[in-house]
Amino acid sequence: MKKSTSSKNARSAKPAAGKKAAAPKKSSVAAKRNAAPSGRASATASKSAKPAPKKSARSAAASSRGTAKSSGSRVVANTRKKQSSAREDLQEVLKDSLKDIYYAEKQLAKALKKVSKAATNEELKQAFDTHREQTEGQIELLTQAFEALEMRAAGKKCPAMDGLIEEANEHIQEMDKGPALDAALIVGAQKIEHYEIAAYGSMRTFARCLGLGECEDIFNQILQQESETDELLTQIAETVNMEALDEDEAEEVDMGEMEEEAM
Ligand code: FE
Ligand code: FE
Ligand code: FE
Repeated sequence: MKKSTSSKNARSAKPAAGKKAAAPKKSSVAAKRNAAPSGRASATASKSAKPAPKKSARSAAASSRGTAKSSGSRVVANTRKKQSSAREDLQEVLKDSLKDIYYAEKQLAKALKKVSKAATNEELKQAFDTHREQTEGQIELLTQAFEALEMRAAGKKCPAMDGLIEEANEHIQEMDKGPALDAALIVGAQKIEHYEIAAYGSMRTFARCLGLGECEDIFNQILQQESETDELLTQIAETVNMEALDEDEAEEVDMGEMEEEAM
């Protein structure tokens, strides 16, 4: 994938944020809210109700003013309630994302050691080692975000990161060390970086919407590191892919020489 595309994706956090934010509607809190009578339901109910006894013009006008006033304040109260609930729901999504990525980063810090050992290209090894150190720093930064949200720093299993790490492990087990494995490791690492970019892009947007400046700064800082790592891997891939092709050609030459000798 091209650099420009990945960094664009990194910044297009809005759609992801929208999708995630929609999820908590299923929560019991939201379900209860939805269970409240809607405008249409009340209209139907008032139609089917028995006609009210006739009132004098003056008392009817006074009563209608009173109804308008009380229903007006009800609307304001309901709107405020909805806004505060929406805010709480969004904060819940942010907290959940934080736990998810905290777990993911911890798994990744361990995996990067293994991936670095499996790599042959020196520049790639160095990139994995540098990113492992960055990842450990990110875990530290995330604990500050937990503090800012008055939460205990605790992870929640992230099946996506587990799966991506598993894919990288399969390559390590099934392939010999060399440029082709290096190329496969880059693919795996970039898939991981893109997952992180999506997560931190969304989390940064949530923090901004909720006015959580400290969290926004933390997620932004990590997001920059993930994007830079992704770009660096794209650059290294150019060399590694050429090495893989050169190795292939060298093998073909060797095979040709062996065939000539045999004749
Ligand atoms: Fe990370
Ligand atoms: Fe996850
Ligand atoms: Fe990363």
